[in-house]
Amino acid sequence: MKDSVNKTELVILRSFEAKETDRIYSAFSKERGKIRFIGIGTRKIKAKLASGLEPINMAEVFLVKGRALDRVRGVIILKQFQAIRADWEKIVVAKRVLRILDKMSPEMEANKEIYEALESWLFRLENSQLKNNTERLFLLRLLWRVICWNGIQPDLFNCTCCQNKITSQVRYELILAQGVLCIDCLESGQKRQASVLVNQNVIKLMRILPTCSNEVLERIVVRKEDLAVLEVITRQILSFSLGEKVDF
Ligand SMILES: [Zn+2]
Repeated sequence: MKDSVNKTELVILRSFEAKETDRIYSAFSKERGKIRFIGIGTRKIKAKLASGLEPINMAEVFLVKGRALDRVRGVIILKQFQAIRADWEKIVVAKRVLRILDKMSPEMEANKEIYEALESWLFRLENSQLKNNTERLFLLRLLWRVICWNGIQPDLFNCTCCQNKITSQVRYELILAQGVLCIDCLESGQKRQASVLVNQNVIKLMRILPTCSNEVLERIVVRKEDLAVLEVITRQILSFSLGEKVDF
């Protein structure tokens, strides 16, 4: 009987050595979210498939149903991201982000918004300077989609202390993984642990970032200081959730 072959578009997140000359791959696919599969003999020198399955690659992979894990039959490389690979700092950031995505994605749960955000960020990283504002916004949109997907985003609309609606105010105090304080609670000096003072711009960014389209992201003008605060908050939320120090 002929095996049925499944063609899947994906980004390779990570790979792990398995028994003998095999390798196990973790990837984020367009149609099925995070999946894992095995490459038989891909650790052998000159294994034909191996170069197509390098982490960061975007590829079309042909999978055959296996007992525990699906097996790779073939691969068509869609994008190798040569400029990322040629830049040591970019590789470090890309690998860190792919690792976060690997750890925070449930298996076989499709999420096209995350796939699209990942794809757009990788192309942005490939074609622009690392850590310019737009590259960072594309990355932060991806990470905030992951944060929202995991349901660990702070409440940015109601006061975490008195539950009243947060109206427009100049200064906010964000209590990580919980939410913000309204101006009354802030002024009455409600003390909280692990909190950060943020301004309106940062709150606005956190509210809109996960749903922004590429066109909107490209038009957002953001100050370096605000971006830096948002990065600190994002690192802390991810570190808290993963129980380890996260950087990107
Ligand atoms: Zn309040």
